[in-house]
Amino acid sequence: MSLRKNLPEIFDQFADARKNGFIAAKALKEQNIPMVGTFCTYMPQELPLAMGAVVVSLCATSDETIPEAEKELPRNLCPLIKSSYGFGKTDKCPYFYFSDIVVGETTCDGKKKMYEHMAEFKPVHVMQLPNTQQSEDAFTLWKNEIIRLKSLLEEKFNVEITETKIREAIVLKNFERRALKRFYGLGKLNPPAITGTDILKVLYGTTFKFDRKANIDEIEALTDRVLAAYEAGEKLERKPRILVTGCPIGGVTEKIVKAIEDNGGQVVFFENCMGAKAIEDLVDENEPDVYEALAKKYLSIGCSCMTPNPNRVALLDRSIDEYQVDGVIDVILQACHTYAIETISIKKFVNASKTIPYMSVETDYSTADIGQLNTRMAAFVEML
Ligand code: SF4
Ligand code: SF4
Repeated sequence: MSLRKNLPEIFDQFADARKNGFIAAKALKEQNIPMVGTFCTYMPQELPLAMGAVVVSLCATSDETIPEAEKELPRNLCPLIKSSYGFGKTDKCPYFYFSDIVVGETTCDGKKKMYEHMAEFKPVHVMQLPNTQQSEDAFTLWKNEIIRLKSLLEEKFNVEITETKIREAIVLKNFERRALKRFYGLGKLNPPAITGTDILKVLYGTTFKFDRKANIDEIEALTDRVLAAYEAGEKLERKPRILVTGCPIGGVTEKIVKAIEDNGGQVVFFENCMGAKAIEDLVDENEPDVYEALAKKYLSIGCSCMTPNPNRVALLDRSIDEYQVDGVIDVILQACHTYAIETISIKKFVNASKTIPYMSVETDYSTADIGQLNTRMAAFVEML
């Protein structure tokens, strides 16, 4: 009997996790468990977890509420910001509705200014994220912001967040990171074991599973299962291997991955906030100061809102080799200036230092460009 049997259903369960999580979120609220909504991977999840809260990503991935958002926000703004704001404003996202507080950061200009408006209809706390990782002052500011968030959560929810609890949360999150790294590490297999579409379904789905321990067990079991099938000889066909980098993707923007894989490519690694960017580095469990440990991990995330942004290049450098990548696709959401401007240095690095092809694609949350994406991906894959 095929060991791969039922695997597609498991991947689909992850794909449906966002929808299925609505009921779980409602049940948690009925038990008075606090819910903290986030829009970015810089948010140190260990703090809400240490007080027994659940953390949920509120980044929206469909264009459904963009017209509503455009009544207040400029049209020439990234779809992630407009859509997320629209879902919040119209109460169409149950996770936003159930969140007791939204924690944002001063990342890109669009997001940080959007929070000012969001604060008019939702409790919002904005962490002052420095825009550089290169100075002691930046590190101290971020460490102090983490401590400020801890105090704010304690006050708002009338709880004490002890260092012991934070350490426990660090260990738990590290277990989850290791499980996810082992899972997306399947992308190193050549010939491949699973498609990039399935890798993305799992990475996206896990952000909507609230029982972290059960989530870890589920991911580990899935990885074991895929490996057993692979070792029994159930492998996919070899295809040009693509690394996806750039803005966060998920929901409608899965169209990019579909276009790559429908046109002869295979996505083996996601160097973005739905993938390795947030997961790759663990929090140092041996660091005596828990706030320094958290500050170090989170501040090192290689987002384009940092200047300079060497950590993105470092992760690309490593993963292009480890995942035997043949070509890089940089996904830019429309009107995302920081990622759009950074394409110049990423292209140079990929072409000159790694000597492989690179292409950037700009997209939004509509499906209008699917034909064009197919044409461009087919031409890119053909070249590899
Ligand atoms: S790309 Fe940057 S701003 Fe966007 S979620 Fe990731 S870290 Fe945050
Ligand atoms: S994709 Fe770009 S513009 Fe949009 S929220 Fe992220 S960093 Fe900001």
